[in-house]
Formats: sequence, structure tokens, C-alpha cells
Amino acid sequence: MKVFYREEQSAVGTSYFSPSPRKPALAVESWRKLGHQIQIVSFDPVTRDQLKQVHDPDYVDGVLDGRLNNGFGDQDPRIIKVLPYVSGSMVAATLNAYRTGETSISPTSGANHAGFGFGGGFCTFNFLALAAWETHQAGVKRVGIADCDMHRGNGTDNITQTLGWDWVDHYSFGSDITLARTDVAQWKDSFTKRMEEMAAGVDIIIYNAGADPHIGDPLGGVLSTEDMEHRDRILFAAAADRNVPVAVSLAGGYQDPIDRVLEIHDNMFKMAWMHDPVGNGPDER
Ligand SMILES: [Zn+2]
Repeated sequence: MKVFYREEQSAVGTSYFSPSPRKPALAVESWRKLGHQIQIVSFDPVTRDQLKQVHDPDYVDGVLDGRLNNGFGDQDPRIIKVLPYVSGSMVAATLNAYRTGETSISPTSGANHAGFGFGGGFCTFNFLALAAWETHQAGVKRVGIADCDMHRGNGTDNITQTLGWDWVDHYSFGSDITLARTDVAQWKDSFTKRMEEMAAGVDIIIYNAGADPHIGDPLGGVLSTEDMEHRDRILFAAAADRNVPVAVSLAGGYQDPIDRVLEIHDNMFKMAWMHDPVGNGPDER
């Protein structure tokens, strides 16, 4: 399975509450140990012009020039430097999924709270929206964004509404929290239906595989490890059944030690590998 990764997308040495900036390198290292075939693929960082297709140009310039705060609430040059790579990884993964049908993975986090002209919640630029736009430009008619971070994708909503995108089907687990908390079995049923519906109506699914809905997460606390594996299985199976390619990004996950977060991403990776219609997955599901 292809993982779109470059060293430059990790911000080494940062120590935010969110481990996201240093997570790409750790996630890739962890996946390498799983024993599945994994192919690391390089990519180009996105340009300012690309980012300006889904964000206010003044916001893009302000953040990248160090005049406006990034999604972490500061102007740390180490974060500024990684941002074009973070988005570049997800754009490349999504275009690859579209062109080859392979499940394609970007080990990046921090998109869904970034809106047209603002960041926040550890999100600076919305690479879910940018990846959707780039694939739409490349010929994909309808794009599904299945955002399974614990927290609602307000930034994604803001961009799709601001730009009047009617070709995006956006699901946000953040809107289903009450149901998942009170009746997890019912949530699984409704999520299954929702993903089948999405897969039937789109040409590609962008899956934001958040780790923070996990019951042990300090910012989450709804789904057990088994529930989360079930979530991943539902999504990958719904897509595979309809021959809809999937591009995956990571999101959230604030457990300490970070190994607990990596384990959740490992489980997602195994599930992706099992259902990958083109790559190296085994025959059984
Ligand atoms: Zn979150």
C-alpha cells in the first residue's frame, strides 16, 4: 500500500498538546513494523496558489509569511515550514487513489477546523477540502469527505458553503456524538447506511480517520477499540463494494503516551490493507 510521506511533513522538536506535528514520522515507523508491504512515495509540497483555491488569499499569505497565527495559535516557523508538505501529502494521496483505485494513505493530521479564512483547533489549512478540489479539477465529479474526527468539521463546512460546492458529500462524526454516546449499536447501523449511501453517490472517498473518538482520549471518549475497528471496516467495505477508491488522512488523538494513538492508526492501516482493491491486500475480507 502506498503511503505519501516525506520527512519534511513532520515538525520535529515541537511540543504542543496535540502531537500531530510530529506524528507523521512516528505513524510511518509504526506501519513499517506491521509486516505489510508498504511503499513510501514522495510528492511535491503545495504552492500558495493551490492553497488559495480553497482559502482566502490574505489568510494564506498571512500565515505563510508569519504575520497571522496558524491553527496552533502561534507563528512558529517550524510549523510554517511543514504546512505545504502536510497538504501536499494528502493531495498526492487523493490523486493517486483516483488515478489507480488504490487505497492511498497520508500520515497527516490537522485539517477539519480550518475554514476559508481562519484556522483553529490545531488545523491551519484544510487539506481535505484542497484534496477534494484538486481531484474535482482532475475530473472527479462527486467527492465524499467522511470525517471521523471526534470534533465537527466546521472548517470543511465553511469552505464548501463559502465556495458553493454542491459536488461534495460531507459526513462529520462530530454531529453524531450524542447518538454514538447513548447507543453505539444504533450509531453503527446509521453509519453503515450513511457510508453505503455516500459510496453509492460519489467517485472517491476522502477518509479523515480520527483517533480521538476513542474512549481513552482526553478530548474524546465515545468508541472502544473494537468500535473503532468496526468503523474502519464499515467505511473500507462500503467503498470496496462499490469500487470507490479511498484516500486516508489521520486526525486527532491526544492520548499519552502517543503509542496508544499510534495503535489506533495501526488498526486503521491493517483494515485499509485488508480491503484495498488494488494493492497488496489478501483475498479475504
Ligand atoms: Zn478532534
